[in-house]
Amino acid sequence: MTVYEVATIALVFVLATAATAAIYLGLLNWIGAFHVMRCAACHHLTTASTRAAPASCPHCRRPALLHPVYAARHQHGPPGVRVVGDRLRY
Ligand SMILES: [Zn+2]
Repeated sequence: MTVYEVATIALVFVLATAATAAIYLGLLNWIGAFHVMRCAACHHLTTASTRAAPASCPHCRRPALLHPVYAARHQHGPPGVRVVGDRLRY
């Protein structure tokens, strides 16, 4: 087997796994156990088990992990990286 055949099989496996996971998350949303919501503090998309905006998300709790450059440049500002300019209303 060439490298391209192995890479193609790996790509097919990853895409099939992601599609199957998305189907199951959709089914969980259908029965009301999984929701994609906006964080109340920073407005990033996050997941929640209830249909209410969570008070914090991984972006708020670990800004250096998910936005390392921004966190390094804004060490003394408010925690979390707020999504700027969204016009969502709750
Ligand atoms: Zn947040």
